This record gives sequence, C-alpha cells and structure tokens, in this order.
Amino acid sequence: MLYIGCHLASSKGYKAMGTQAVDINANTFAFFTRNPRGGNAKSLNMKDIEAFLEISREHSFGKLVAHAPYTMNACAADENIRRFARETMADDIQRLEATPGNYYNFHPGSHVKQGADVGIELIADQLNTVLRADQTTTVLLETMAGKGSEMGRSFEELREIINRTEHSEKLGVCLDTCHVWDAGYDVVNNFDGVMEEFDRIIGLERLKAVHLNDSLNPLGAHKDRHAKIGEGFIGADAIIRIINSRYLKGLPFILETPNDIDGYAKEIEFLRKNYSE
Ligand code: FE
Ligand code: FE
Ligand code: ZN
Repeated sequence: MLYIGCHLASSKGYKAMGTQAVDINANTFAFFTRNPRGGNAKSLNMKDIEAFLEISREHSFGKLVAHAPYTMNACAADENIRRFARETMADDIQRLEATPGNYYNFHPGSHVKQGADVGIELIADQLNTVLRADQTTTVLLETMAGKGSEMGRSFEELREIINRTEHSEKLGVCLDTCHVWDAGYDVVNNFDGVMEEFDRIIGLERLKAVHLNDSLNPLGAHKDRHAKIGEGFIGADAIIRIINSRYLKGLPFILETPNDIDGYAKEIEFLRKNYSE
C-alpha cells in the first residue's frame, strides 16, 4: 500500500482536510498545527474530529504527519524563543491526542553561533521537558539541509539528540528527500547506501515518514529549495525508485512541492501509476 499525500491547509478543520485528501486520491496528509508564524492554535472541535476519524477509517488512511510551526527554535540563544518553542510543542502534543497515534514533525532548530554541541543539548532539553510517557503521538526529527546553523544536517546529529532524550521511545525521524540531498546524501545514485548509513547510525526502525520533494539545487548545496517532482536535480526516476524502496515500505510520503491542489493531485496520480506493490 502506498500512503501518499501532501500539505493541506488546516484553517477549515480536520473534516475538510480529510475530504480534500480523498478528492485528490491521498490517503495521508500533513498540516501545520497552527499558523506557521506562531500564535495560538484554534480550539478543538470534537464533532469535526469525529467526522474526520470516520473518513480516515472509511478510506484506510495511513498515519498523519502534523508539522510544527517552522519558526519554532528549540535551540535558540534567546531564552524567550526557547520558552515559546517548549510551550508550543507541549500544547501541540496535548492537542494531537484528539487524533491519537499519529506523527508530529519538527525542525530541530538553528544553533545561531552557539555551536552544534550546544544546539544538541538544548534540543534534548526541550524534548526532556515536553515528552510524556503516556502520549500516543510519535515526535519526528526532520532531516535538514544544513542551511546556516541549522541542526539535523547529518544522521550523526540526529543520533546525538536521540541519545540525550529520556523518552526516546517517543522519537522518530522524518526523511526529507530535498533536505538530505542538499545536506550531501546522494539519494539519486546511491539510495540504498544512504539507507544503510541511516540504519547504521540511527536505526531504520526510527524512520517513520518521508517528505517527498525534488530539489532546485545540486547535491550538498545546503540551500533547501524544493522543486516539483521531476523538475529538480533529484529527478523523477530517482523519486520513483525512492517510493518503491524496500526500506520505505508502508511509510507515509508527504509532498511539499511548490504546487496548488491540482498540481498535488497530478503528482499523486503520477506516483501511484509508478508504484508497484
Ligand atoms: Fe519541514
Ligand atoms: Fe520537509
Ligand atoms: Zn525544506
């Protein structure tokens, strides 16, 4: 079964996202838990959530991959920014219990001149404050392109964060194909080698979701600019090999390509056509 979807706007609620996913032949999706610029999340509407869960069961959706606001920086130098990150994550994790057992993906953060070691400590501190033994959501560290002082640019950095996290059983990794390519992992010519390295350093059991994107830049560019499938340096052939990889069977694939909803529908159709069970 190929679980594939894209980012959907959450402003109209869960049921609207579920209906839109079905319309474009998606069976998973991503959404921002609140305005990406931060601010308060809307209060939960349990009737809306019930209606969504019904759609999700009826259409056998895979796990959802909620996305934390990208302005959240767990390893900022400024204590106020770190507090905002902690409070936002704690609140999001609590709210996500209304739709139990899904994923919550976040960008580990930028260490802004404090150095990667301090960055790792601060990110683990946040996770140690926020993660709860009884939560059903798995929190995913996203692999990053390594733009500026961005953390998560290597599998080793993610491993260090996991090592320092007490409730590491609540942690997984979301592999962003554009980001790892930009970070220097050659997913075009040696995808199996990248997966073997992931397994050696992090462990494949931690790999829970994939952000499926082409990249506007060449290998190792550390830029992070997404392209439509087949319109970047990764290319359609490599992306088709990735969705069919034996290492990624059953994982949710989320498109974050620069598209409107019709563009997403076309990419989903193209990828389904090129997937073999
Ligand atoms: Fe992201
Ligand atoms: Fe991503
Ligand atoms: Zn990106």
